[in-house]
Amino acid sequence: MTHDDVSRENDGRDVVLCECFARDGLQHEPGQLSTDDKVALIDRFAAMGFARVEATSYSNPQVVPQFADASDLLRRLPRRPGVFYKATCANLRAVERALADADAGRGANEISLLVSATNSHSLKNLARSRADQWENIRAMASAASGRFRLVGTVSMAFGCPFEGRVDVREVLADVGRFRDAGVLHVALGDTTGTATPRSAAALFRGMRSAYPDVVPIAHFHDTRGTGIANYMAALDAGVRHFDCAFGGVGGHPTRVKYGGGHTGNVCTEDLVDLFETMGVRTGIDTGALLQAVEACEAALGRELEGRVARSGLNPLRESAEPAESPGGAPGSSRAAAP
Ligand SMILES: [Zn+2]
Repeated sequence: MTHDDVSRENDGRDVVLCECFARDGLQHEPGQLSTDDKVALIDRFAAMGFARVEATSYSNPQVVPQFADASDLLRRLPRRPGVFYKATCANLRAVERALADADAGRGANEISLLVSATNSHSLKNLARSRADQWENIRAMASAASGRFRLVGTVSMAFGCPFEGRVDVREVLADVGRFRDAGVLHVALGDTTGTATPRSAAALFRGMRSAYPDVVPIAHFHDTRGTGIANYMAALDAGVRHFDCAFGGVGGHPTRVKYGGGHTGNVCTEDLVDLFETMGVRTGIDTGALLQAVEACEAALGRELEGRVARSGLNPLRESAEPAESPGGAPGSSRAAAP
């Protein structure tokens, strides 16, 4: 199955953003949103132009109660053509749940499979060694074969709170293991915000040159205020896919402790505003951006962390800069917008 021919990803946008509020975002929240609220937000994200929306996770409800409604949410979610709705899967049982929902005609069309770059984080986050998780992933990819678009995620790819620096060769080997398992989209995760623009550019350049057939995705957290700088470096290194969350919400599950402080994703509204002002087309309706932030703030009952929501959209974006494409992939030669 491929959706590539009808995907919004190919509608002329320079970059493809995945809105992660409803999964990576919410898993950090102590409270729970109603299924209705989640469905309304996810549909709003798709309506404003996102080509990929992280919808839910088939995780163990005992550990991550926020997603106990995964199947119910997917059943209620209106579908929009060309949009990938992603569900994360931690184990074979999760893929079986995803398959059951797909069989019933209400499933996700993209699932993600997770590996940690370090053994210590793997044991902590997945309760499994890396070797065991790789066996698991091969079984999951094989079980899912052909039913979903598969996205692999290597978390702690740029550094680990337990093991420190991570061997770049091992991360690239993980990309190769995903590819060998038939997973052709791979996200490199800066899970606790330890990457720098230089390490981000170096790893993505290495990945693109070693595995040109695998689509690289940047999944960074803004733990130390470096998220946007790292994304600009990734863009220059030829990355076209970026994960982000409204209001910069997100992080690791509230019941799985590692790292601390601000753990959120790169803030969607700040990233979209920057890209559009640079002349990098996101496909997102910027006119709907601030209302979406308001809806997210209303759902969570607090003010979120983004800057653009407080300062306003960049007034220069209406006369966006002609985009350059240093990495070759995004930003074709485009004249300034009218
Ligand atoms: Zn994340």
